[in-house]
Amino acid sequence: MGKKETGQIKGIRICTLNYIMIVSAAVLYMILIYATVQVSVRYERLIKATEDYISSEKDGALIKEGSDYLTEQARLYVVTMEPQYMEAYFTEKNVIRRRDKALEGLRRYENSEEAYEFLQRAFDDSNRLTKREIYAMGLIARSQEKYTEDLPQEIQEVVFSEEDENMSFEERVKKAQDMVFDTAYRETKELIEKNTDNFLTAIVTWTRDRQTDSAAALKSIILRQRLCFSILFVMNTVTFVLIIAFIIRPLMSFVKCIKEEKKLQAAGAYEFRYLAATYNDIYEANEENERMLRHRAERDPLTGVLNRGAFEHMRTVLKDAFEPIALIIIDVDKFKDVNDTYGHEAGDEVLKKVANVIRRAFRTQDCVARIGGDEFAVIMTECTREMKDVIRAKADSMNEKLALDSGELPAVSLSIGAAFSYHGFPDELYGMADEALYQVKANGRRGCCFYDDDICGEND
Ligand code: GH3
Ligand code: MG
Repeated sequence: MGKKETGQIKGIRICTLNYIMIVSAAVLYMILIYATVQVSVRYERLIKATEDYISSEKDGALIKEGSDYLTEQARLYVVTMEPQYMEAYFTEKNVIRRRDKALEGLRRYENSEEAYEFLQRAFDDSNRLTKREIYAMGLIARSQEKYTEDLPQEIQEVVFSEEDENMSFEERVKKAQDMVFDTAYRETKELIEKNTDNFLTAIVTWTRDRQTDSAAALKSIILRQRLCFSILFVMNTVTFVLIIAFIIRPLMSFVKCIKEEKKLQAAGAYEFRYLAATYNDIYEANEENERMLRHRAERDPLTGVLNRGAFEHMRTVLKDAFEPIALIIIDVDKFKDVNDTYGHEAGDEVLKKVANVIRRAFRTQDCVARIGGDEFAVIMTECTREMKDVIRAKADSMNEKLALDSGELPAVSLSIGAAFSYHGFPDELYGMADEALYQVKANGRRGCCFYDDDICGEND
């Protein structure tokens, strides 16, 4: 197979396009997966910020509640001196521990430092009040002899000042009540309340900031997702267009060309162009082969003019033709003698020479065939009786050429019989021409005779 066309092929390769598409799609899908994960992370953060806020709010309220409860129990005790209030006080402080638990809980949430500081301050103030309350309750409890041994550890451990140690019971009661009702106590209580409120305001701000941040991040990720989807959509559309331009259209054109038995038109991707060029190379080689086979099938191998088979084919083709034709049969005179005198090979050379002379004498559209050993036939298309003189002149010219003794080859002469038909090649035409030829032979050979010629008794 020739590499005529495949050598200079240019075009985009499908495999290159394919790699580009795969890599771009993979990158986009990875970005999309990352964005999707980010969306869920940001969404969870948003939810967590809200949950943290709710829990923090509850815990902040618990610290205040715990502190208020302790104040209430301490005050009730120093006023009524009923031991159950002191008991309730220490149960809250050491067992229920609302304030401590709330503070521990708050450490677990993601809160701002600032908010936590407010809470710590409220807690510290509350602890300071606790010491004051225990001191106040101790002042009363330790004055009552009957309870001394059952008193809670913290009451027993209170160390009074010298002044308080020397006070009377009434003075101690008064001092204890002052300690939990005076302005300083109330101011500290207000401070605890204020710090708790500040804490709540701080966490509201903190939560709102976190929510705003998360919402903004969510928005930008969703935007990026949309962008990726849009690019993917465009890429898909481009892919479809490329598939149509580089694959489907060339394939359709190839199928059409193959059905119409034509060469393929180079189109589409490099691979298809290569395929088309290869196909065209094979197509051309086949055509050449066919031409050669046809030539061999219809040509006489010795002389190169058409053979008997091709002549018969022409006869059939022209049988019902409308055009006028002339059939001329040419036979070499006394050819046996040539063979006998000069040998068969020389005879062959004479036949070749005769064929060449005949071919040159007629037009290219006339059909020259070797129909027997030394017998030739010429079919002249578009030829009427008016052309008798032309044919006669051709016969003379041929005989003149063959009469010359060209060195090694002997001179020969031709007997020529011709017949005309107005329309095509009727069955009887061959017989008519053959009869005219017979007349020439009978009249002494070397000459030309026409079938309807009455004066055929004498050769021209
Ligand atoms: P006539 O003038 O009556 O035609 O006499 P002729 O000797 O030519 O007789 P005929 O046409 O019957 O003889 C043809 C001879 O041609 C017979 C045969 O030996 C010879 N011949 C046939 N085919 C070939 C061939 O291919 N090569 C050669 N050298 N001779 C051939
Ligand atoms: Mg002969």
